[in-house]
Amino acid sequence: MSPAPSPVAPTFSMALHGGAGTPPAGTVDPVHDQHRRETLRRAVQVGCAILERGGPALDAVVAAVQVLEDDPAFNAGRGSVYARDRTQRMDASVMDGRTRRAGAVCDVRRIRSPVAAALAVARRSPHVLLAGAGAEAFARAEGLARVDPEWFADPTRLRQLERALAAGRVQLDHAAGDDHESGGTVGAVARDLHGHLAAATSTGGMTAKAPGRIGDSAVIGAGTWADDRTCAVSATGHGERFIEAAVAGRIAALIELAGLGLAAATDRVVHVELVASGGEGGVVAVDAAGRIAWPFNSGGMARAARHSCGRVEVHGFLAGSAAVGGG
Ligand code: ASP
Repeated sequence: MSPAPSPVAPTFSMALHGGAGTPPAGTVDPVHDQHRRETLRRAVQVGCAILERGGPALDAVVAAVQVLEDDPAFNAGRGSVYARDRTQRMDASVMDGRTRRAGAVCDVRRIRSPVAAALAVARRSPHVLLAGAGAEAFARAEGLARVDPEWFADPTRLRQLERALAAGRVQLDHAAGDDHESGGTVGAVARDLHGHLAAATSTGGMTAKAPGRIGDSAVIGAGTWADDRTCAVSATGHGERFIEAAVAGRIAALIELAGLGLAAATDRVVHVELVASGGEGGVVAVDAAGRIAWPFNSGGMARAARHSCGRVEVHGFLAGSAAVGGG
């Protein structure tokens, strides 16, 4: 009789992004790049503290994203970019891979943590996506923190808007070389000790977007997806192209229906399909076994991970900015 297999210790893993884009050479400030890496590392620590004590992946991704929303160095919550009418309008979404329940808010201006509102929609509303004033009324009824729109105001972001308007373009994070002080959209994926997956994404969108424009970060199946049977995905990039490509749901479908592994599925969508449609950006993803993939087709993507072996890595935009350490 062969000996009983030794039990495999349960593991957890998590990956975050802090936005993708292509800053022109020489425009990324090393001090700000390091600041963003430090906040990403802190967000991993906050999320992993929940996972380590057996908490749900959904709670971990939301807690990690809230750390990034609170830092004006990222384009989410405080630090959100401006729409062309000089307002800041935010989108966020979450999905629980265990139940496949999802929640999202879009075009909100008065909710301190849009990702917390998305979580409340998933947990306590009969709906998936709430917009604008309706989302804000729901968040208020849920007792979530509310702020005046001015609370989000940011002079660096306003300067970016003025330059984008002068150039007549709608702009992805990091694109113009005038935004070296400010990072991108944020998102997180995780696998918890019980094998459940979750994803969360939060953003101010694209600079100089039209008021009322909604990006992929609020769209389940485009910017966010989680299903325990396949993977959890959070995307960042040119939202219109990401919606058209159904990025996050398509990665899961390639795993489930075409039998691809996580790396092959994410590479195909990011490096082949999105490139063909001009969809600049990337994803962070984790599969049911806790493996992480994070391809991007832009010049860079700020990102951090805690792998299931315990290794932590943090990458900024600058070459050689990777900081790797034990978990
Ligand atoms: N995907 C976001 C949007 O289009 C922007 C980004 O990821 O930077 O709203």
